[in-house]
Amino acid sequence: MDCAHTTAVGDCIFCKIIAGDIPCARIYEDAHVLAFLDINPIAKGHTLVVLKGHYPTLLDVPSCVGEPLLRALRLVGKAVREETRAGGFNCIQNNFSPAGQMVFHSHWHIIPRFDNDGLPDWPGGRYADISEMQQLAASLLARIGGEPSGGTHE
Ligand code: 5GP
Ligand code: ZN
Repeated sequence: MDCAHTTAVGDCIFCKIIAGDIPCARIYEDAHVLAFLDINPIAKGHTLVVLKGHYPTLLDVPSCVGEPLLRALRLVGKAVREETRAGGFNCIQNNFSPAGQMVFHSHWHIIPRFDNDGLPDWPGGRYADISEMQQLAASLLARIGGEPSGGTHE
């Protein structure tokens, strides 16, 4: 796939921001990525790292943007952590509505985090038993097309 941008989609809010038709609080830009502050921040400094191509979800993102995307995530994560004096940060991406995706133009959230900042932790679930976990792993492995490695450390 061509690593150039896909065509902007007329009713996409992020395509309009990338085109400069809607203003944003820009903090980083290169040929592949635009990063700007989220208008409804989970914490001050919450930033969106947005691919310039209109790829609706991660499943549409071509591998050729992987390197520039990773570089931008590192640059933005470091800057946000230092500027907000956060101890850490989350790098989160939502795909499809059940995962909370509202804007169907791929983007990554960089969210500053502090000790005891009151933001909810992810609940830790459980499998019924080790065999349920192993069967699910085997099905996923087959779906992806890999070979069993002969066991895990679990
Ligand atoms: P999603 O739920 O799709 O992963 O995240 C979309 C994010 O985009 C939300 O956190 C929302 O606050 C942010 N957002 C939506 N519209 C705008 C906008 O016009 N400007 C900015 N800066 N952020 C926006
Ligand atoms: Zn778009």
